[in-house]
Amino acid sequence: MKYPKEVRTYCPYCRKHTVHKGKLASKGKARTLAIGTRKHERKLRGHGGKRAGKVPVKKQGVRQKIILECQECKKKQERVIGTRTKKKLEFSA
Ligand SMILES: [Zn+2]
Repeated sequence: MKYPKEVRTYCPYCRKHTVHKGKLASKGKARTLAIGTRKHERKLRGHGGKRAGKVPVKKQGVRQKIILECQECKKKQERVIGTRTKKKLEFSA
């Protein structure tokens, strides 16, 4: 999927439409010591009639996130693009 490098869109900080530059958002990592992660691992322990670990689910592509940077105030905002895509996002000129 292609996406323009620069888009003119609303900036909530400037409260008007400004030119934004797009960048693909990095996925980030799960914190292994976070309370939710520990709770989840505790739940999976001993199986409890269910399969331990991740159950493989085949999804029809991924929903991609981009980070838009306002060119006036340099603030960033996240945006999820439309539907699921199978190919990685490309920025066109
Ligand atoms: Zn702005």
